[in-house]
Amino acid sequence: MASVARTEEVPAATKLELKLLVDQTTNRVLFAEASKDVADFLLGLLSLPLGYITRLVGNQLLSNSIASLYASLESLPDTYLVAPAFDRAALLEPNASSSSLVLLENKPKSSVGKKVKVYYGCSGSRAHTYLSEVARLPCPSCRYAMSIEQKVLQGKEEASAEKAREEAGGGYVKGVVNYMVMDDLAVVPASTFSAIELFNRFQVKDVTSLYASVVEFGMEEGLELLKASLQSKTVLTDVFLPKFEGGISIELVELGGDASTTNG
Ligand SMILES: [Zn+2]
Repeated sequence: MASVARTEEVPAATKLELKLLVDQTTNRVLFAEASKDVADFLLGLLSLPLGYITRLVGNQLLSNSIASLYASLESLPDTYLVAPAFDRAALLEPNASSSSLVLLENKPKSSVGKKVKVYYGCSGSRAHTYLSEVARLPCPSCRYAMSIEQKVLQGKEEASAEKAREEAGGGYVKGVVNYMVMDDLAVVPASTFSAIELFNRFQVKDVTSLYASVVEFGMEEGLELLKASLQSKTVLTDVFLPKFEGGISIELVELGGDASTTNG
């Protein structure tokens, strides 16, 4: 018998990439150049339920009130709750559907952000008109399994949004250009500002104090970004600059095609 090659299907951890432009004199990230995937991750944070965020990072936040609120529900005895099991799940572990889950939970891109909901109908010959959110429950009339998939038709706008999203490969922004992410996480198309405008905006006096560095980041940094986004206006600086102390290789930045800067 021929031996069959075993292929271990461990999904590779998702990694995203940012190109940071750092000012050495102020020790700040001015902005970062980002792909569609990074922009989608950041914009997706806006659709995360607060209960979900608290479950992920609540106890590590400086301002801890939401974490206390969360903990108080955890410890509230069932006797006081109208629907203890259901509401605990809905409030403490709400479903999140967002492009951010690609990084935060290492979910495949195709599985997040989809809104189409599937219901199950009676599989008996009379096809009774009940719908179930859970597959294989018995039909209340004939007891046959509710196992026939029934899709809900979407409104015109929602359907066309879903179609456009599918064509764009998921997410929120188009992949035709790169994006700039500011230190406070504002996302703009990379072409918005010229190099000169940027230097003015950030009051850069000495171009030689700038360097660019490409950082690769995964789930851990994704969580740190989420956490910092809730309590800081200098998120990229807070999350990535401390990591440089270990000695990440840097390259001098070349802007506007003028690479002939005075290097020593
Ligand atoms: Zn039935």
